[in-house]
Amino acid sequence: MSQLPISSANSPLELTGHQLRQELSLVLDQLVPYLDGLPDDDAWAPHDSPRANITPRESRLGSPCSLVDLLDDLFQRRIHPSFSPTSGGYLAYVPGGGIPHAAIADLIAGIINKYVTVWSVAPGLANIEADIISWFNDLVGFPTGSGGYLTTGGSMANWSAIVTARRMRLGDDFSNAIIYASDQSHHSIIKASVLAGFPEVNVRLIPCDDTHRIDLQVLKSQIALDRKSGLTPFLVTGHAGTTNTGAVDPLEDLAVIAQQEQLWFHIDAAYGGFFCLTDRGRDVLRGLHRADSITLDPHKGLFLPYGTGCLLVREQAALRQAHQVDAAYLPPFQEDAAHVDFCEISPELSRDFRALRIWLPLKLFGWDMFTQYLDQKIDLCTQAFDAVKSLEHIEIMSPPQLSTFAFRIAPPDFPSKTSLNSLNQYFLARINAQRKIFLSGTTIDGHFLIRICVLCFRTHEKHIEQCIAAIENNISASIENYKSID
Ligand SMILES: *Cc1c(COP(=O)(O)O)cnc(C)c1O
Repeated sequence: MSQLPISSANSPLELTGHQLRQELSLVLDQLVPYLDGLPDDDAWAPHDSPRANITPRESRLGSPCSLVDLLDDLFQRRIHPSFSPTSGGYLAYVPGGGIPHAAIADLIAGIINKYVTVWSVAPGLANIEADIISWFNDLVGFPTGSGGYLTTGGSMANWSAIVTARRMRLGDDFSNAIIYASDQSHHSIIKASVLAGFPEVNVRLIPCDDTHRIDLQVLKSQIALDRKSGLTPFLVTGHAGTTNTGAVDPLEDLAVIAQQEQLWFHIDAAYGGFFCLTDRGRDVLRGLHRADSITLDPHKGLFLPYGTGCLLVREQAALRQAHQVDAAYLPPFQEDAAHVDFCEISPELSRDFRALRIWLPLKLFGWDMFTQYLDQKIDLCTQAFDAVKSLEHIEIMSPPQLSTFAFRIAPPDFPSKTSLNSLNQYFLARINAQRKIFLSGTTIDGHFLIRICVLCFRTHEKHIEQCIAAIENNISASIENYKSID
């Protein structure tokens, strides 16, 4: 027998409006100071820092705790130590977003908890996602008839693109089909291919030219070679901003090759796509509109919280054809193309109302606000680049095309590649040691590089100045110190 009282009025699962207000005020007591500290918060802290005092794992759920205690646990003993992509000094990897209005949208979405993947169940809300997809398609220059849906991130969008292409272009036996990507591709392209059922050996990683863009001659020769061997070239991906160096592949040229060779052309624009809001970005991303499918990551370029990705396709019909299966127990689907049943064109059925966290900020502030912020990221990256390239012993490995570049220290007569790599790892550790700035490294062709990626919405001129100072102040000390330990 249930122990619940007949009247549920006092049950916390059925919170009243008044109680909600009270609980939220406890949450705000923690969130408000946290938020106000973010612009100048440390950009990272290592998990093994002496300050680290995180709550140990719990193998069993104990007895219930109070909200105040749980908030304390979160804010005092779990949120730190961590990387902090929401702080201005975070210039590592590809920074995520976290604009607070998106969190307000999430609160609303969670409480109303409507079913948004079948149009007739909540048409006004399903239309929000459909509208966002139209705005994004318009932005990338896709024609009428294009479509798409919101994913949880770029990896899922890449996977979904490859599955869609496979279902459109190949039969049930696709073991001979070949996928082409550059050796600078995000690892999620390989993962997506494998998860879409392709043998890993069928993914050709084409070498890049010295600007880290896919080498078109090698690509063409490889395609010819594969055809000659009786294989089926099937899909080529281009990057609108690689993660390593921010390089943008020659998208127009890739489109031509894809057309000549009848390949599906997918562009991974998870990092760089939203720069097409800016004049400079549009110029760099020329050819984006010629793709068959595009991955965007609003949780990067639109500064939204994690869990917000997007797949766009030139033909909405392709998504429908790839995903449609009938289910007698669902409400009827719509015939009218303007009324989108998202469960019909994507892998998920029940899911969160992720569109609201894009819609609210975009409707509140318009494209213009985001354009200005992205323009500022390009400016800040240029500022960092101009300063860093003029420093002694610095070698630029890849100038910025959007808001990322890579460099290293390379003192003359340094003994070997290996020790140059360790010197740069040491240099990076010194730059990051103050924790106000966080940069990350990568390895290309065996060379360890340091990268700066400006994409956090809270990054401003003072953070770039701090970053430049951290680099400048550590050059000679790193060289001296390294020499003495080498
Ligand atoms: C971030 C990123 C991805 C993966 O996206 P997630 O949202 O992290 O799943 C894929 N490609 C590129 C170029 C990226 O920058």
